[in-house]
Amino acid sequence: MDLLETGAADLGVTLDRVQLDQFRLYYGELIQWNNHVNLTAVTDYEQVQTRHFLDSLTVDAVLPDTLRRSGRLLDVGSGAGLPGLPLRIAHPGLNVTLLDATAKKTAFLKHITRVLGLKDVEICTGRAESLAHDQTLRGMYDVVVSRAVARLSVLSELILPFCKVGGLAVAQKRGNVAAELCEAQVAIKSMGGVVKEVVDVEVEGVVDAAMLVVIEKTSATMERYPRRPGIPSKHPL
Ligand code: SAH
Repeated sequence: MDLLETGAADLGVTLDRVQLDQFRLYYGELIQWNNHVNLTAVTDYEQVQTRHFLDSLTVDAVLPDTLRRSGRLLDVGSGAGLPGLPLRIAHPGLNVTLLDATAKKTAFLKHITRVLGLKDVEICTGRAESLAHDQTLRGMYDVVVSRAVARLSVLSELILPFCKVGGLAVAQKRGNVAAELCEAQVAIKSMGGVVKEVVDVEVEGVVDAAMLVVIEKTSATMERYPRRPGIPSKHPL
């Protein structure tokens, strides 16, 4: 995990032996499960360190310090746990929930959190459109993160309802972010969000790190959002 260790240090995140061992274990289980569950196209030891683990840790750059120590973070469309699980490994005080619609993926998430001994990580199986109406989840998170799930006009409707007023949504994005942002203006505003910043984090060893679109939730999301499963992507606002 040398690439991860130096890259993380470059981001200001110090990983100790125990944490590096957890990442090593995570890698091994990911590759093994990937034989029967479609979790990742990237399997090479070095590439997983940079394109998955380090890319996930770039989110750290926009997390307020108090939140890193004890905040509630939700990862929507977490898949194999990215970016939520690397953030939890790096910050044991962070209270993390991983959500995905696919039961096979959440079975892996339950397995890996058990293997890593992370007892306090919550795993939710279901569509964000439905779970965002669950009163135990809606408006409950200090920060909601998401990587590679949907374009911003759709994603805003899936992630912002989970945020507390005053909380943040962080979307990891590649490609033409300006165009996506432009197209997502109505959706972001409708969910009670305001774009705070777009951050391009540079990390040693990561050629193509995702940009971070940071949205602040300034008012509560109206009850009618998110719309029914599938509607946000079929008819983006
Ligand atoms: N975030 C991970 C996985 C990206 S793949 C990564 O960056 O590697 C997209 C994931 O989002 C899939 O696992 C899929 O099951 C999940 N997903 C897509 N739409 C969703 C929705 N509406 N609600 C919940 N999960 C969703």
